[in-house]
Amino acid sequence: MTKPMPAAFLGHGSPMNALEANRFSSAWRAFGASVPTPRAVLAISAHWFIDSTAVTAMAQPRTIHDFYGFPRELFEVQYPAPGDPTLAEEIAEVVKPTEAALDRGEWGLDHGTWSVLVHAFPNADIPVLQLAINAAKDAAYHFDLGARLAPLRERGVLILGSGNVVHNLRALDWKQQDLGFDWAHRFDDAARELMTDRPAELPGLASHPDYRLAVPTTDHYFPLLYLAGLASAAGRSTDVLVDGCTYGSISMTCYTLDADCPTGREEGPAAPIPDPKVIAPEDTNL
Ligand code: ZN
Repeated sequence: MTKPMPAAFLGHGSPMNALEANRFSSAWRAFGASVPTPRAVLAISAHWFIDSTAVTAMAQPRTIHDFYGFPRELFEVQYPAPGDPTLAEEIAEVVKPTEAALDRGEWGLDHGTWSVLVHAFPNADIPVLQLAINAAKDAAYHFDLGARLAPLRERGVLILGSGNVVHNLRALDWKQQDLGFDWAHRFDDAARELMTDRPAELPGLASHPDYRLAVPTTDHYFPLLYLAGLASAAGRSTDVLVDGCTYGSISMTCYTLDADCPTGREEGPAAPIPDPKVIAPEDTNL
């Protein structure tokens, strides 16, 4: 039997990480270089957070620049990977009885997906699809849906969650580009303990005393549940690819499943976020 394709959760942080070489983008690069060439990538990005379950099914997904206030060079980034409409139909079958709508023209590849893929698969020649996060559903739903995606790994699909375990834009501290608040580290450590030992228990992390501060909205956190579901389905735990916090209230910690990946060689903090005087944190859409 062939080995299942590795899977990962990547903490994407600022969209500027797409343009920078630091210890996080370097780790994403090392991960992409370490895996067998996937048939396709299925990304679950924090930035496609809608009121239904859907999968992109266009032949050529557009690169979406879903943020404001960043330098022009970031708006010029294109990630021209093809889609795979046939695989989209296959995914809709795999997740049944959950109904996944086939999106043939609405979405594309948002920055949660392309800001990490420009490093992991810089040639943009592997088909990429996105699975929307259904905002109306709870952690248990997303964990179960993640587990249901497991057969795709046997068919060469690399499943990639992209978000941040801790993500509180209102608590950002511009003086702490490479640091985290105590509560951010406590929650990040609690998630790590579960992901590296008993990922089936991750849905229960919502009762952690720091959950409200760490996860004020669930968009960036829920992609982690997909990897926990996949790990649980495989009967294994995940490995830490790289860890750390940025701007006090964002965790950049990344996890892999069934990957044999050396860590990156670059050093340095996660990429900057524009000055708060230029743009209000509520509008940064990181
Ligand atoms: Zn984001």
